[in-house]
Amino acid sequence: MKITILGAGESGVGAAILAKEKGFSVFISDFGKIKDNYKKILETNNIEYEEEKHTEEKILSSKEIIKSPGIACNVPIIKKAKARNIKIISEIEFAARYTDAVKVCITGSNGKTTTTLLIYEIFKNAGLNVGLAGNIGQSFALQVAKNNFDYYILELSSFQLDNMYDFKAEVAIILNITPDHLDRYNNEFQQYVKSKFRITQNQTKNDYLIYNQDDNILIKQIGEAKINSQKLPFSLEKEVEKGAFVKNDTITIKINSNTMQQLATKELNLLGQHNIQNSMAAYLPAELYGINKKIIRETLTNFKSVEHRLEKHLTIRGITFINDSKATNVNSVWYALESIKTDIVLILGGKDKGNDYSILDELVSQKVKTIIAMGIDNSPIHKAFGDIVEIIDTKSMHDAVKSAYLLADKGDTVLLSPACASFDLFKNYEDRGEQFKEEVRNL
Ligand code: ADP
Repeated sequence: MKITILGAGESGVGAAILAKEKGFSVFISDFGKIKDNYKKILETNNIEYEEEKHTEEKILSSKEIIKSPGIACNVPIIKKAKARNIKIISEIEFAARYTDAVKVCITGSNGKTTTTLLIYEIFKNAGLNVGLAGNIGQSFALQVAKNNFDYYILELSSFQLDNMYDFKAEVAIILNITPDHLDRYNNEFQQYVKSKFRITQNQTKNDYLIYNQDDNILIKQIGEAKINSQKLPFSLEKEVEKGAFVKNDTITIKINSNTMQQLATKELNLLGQHNIQNSMAAYLPAELYGINKKIIRETLTNFKSVEHRLEKHLTIRGITFINDSKATNVNSVWYALESIKTDIVLILGGKDKGNDYSILDELVSQKVKTIIAMGIDNSPIHKAFGDIVEIIDTKSMHDAVKSAYLLADKGDTVLLSPACASFDLFKNYEDRGEQFKEEVRNL
């Protein structure tokens, strides 16, 4: 049995190790350079690899290819494999074949990492034998190879879902669907929506779908899709019969008619309406698996924000600096602006993915004193906000932070929440967030 893996990053290398352990003859090929630490692992495990090329005869002689989520579906090697009817799967699909664990899976345009970590922390604090994987930490495949967890909390991106076919989530969570990554979906939003809904495929009546009742796009798709699992909606706006909702600043969790849990929203440590949504989405699976209310409450009230996600960094001369570098689309910026109660100097911009900024207009007029545009091409920001607010152009984090500091007054917040990808000026969003924090420290 021969299997080829394309992409030798975290997921590819994990898949290679699992495949080897299961007796496959494994070949891993990366069109770019492979990081030294991964090369070492491949060598130690006697796994044949190549880098900076794809040897077609070798790759196309496998029955199945495991594709890393970073590789687009329209690259030549994938097109050729498809033409030969070679099955192309994701690492998650492959690894799931070898575990009986319960899989709680989280997808959505925003909030995946935060919600995944919330659920994982609750399960771990409850003493359950639980692993954390997907788009986060160590690969799922590696953990399936090395551990024997009873539960996995899996963060799933649309790119992973695209190559999943037989995988079944015992609990599927869809947090929200807003335009993102459209460059990978032929600019067709509906393709991206459908990709997210693959998380429900193969679910049966014994499984659960947790979803955001307030998201119109999601609700429309639920109406059209065939969902076999039990639905548990959550809502900030209206009471639901089964699921979770907020009323009078209190979260109510109701999974069946005789039990009900409640928690005041002010007890949550994470700020913002979006984090109330994330917390409801995290509470529901914990309740489904009978986790003690006290443990759930303690976890939700102590949970620290994840780095680069509305991360409160420092307060200097009464000015608070918040790092929200992971806000790479417009919707996440909306929630950031909504959650901040002071006047804001907003650092915005980067590699624009064809953003429609209009949903920010109202909050920007209400709260934002100045926009510091930070990118190689700041014209989309000027076009969107030129008539509403003062805009200062910068092309580096150093200048952006310095200008923001000069323009902010005591009591204001300087918010880095870019709505854009980072790779015009930075390596990635982590690099952008770290540079922000460093520049603030240097003030
Ligand atoms: P993801 O893993 O889906 O990118 P993260 O938890 O890393 O999500 O958060 C990414 C960005 O989205 C951050 O700016 C965060 O503040 C914001 N965010 C978090 N949860 C939500 C949500 N439920 N709705 C909208 N924005 C959110």
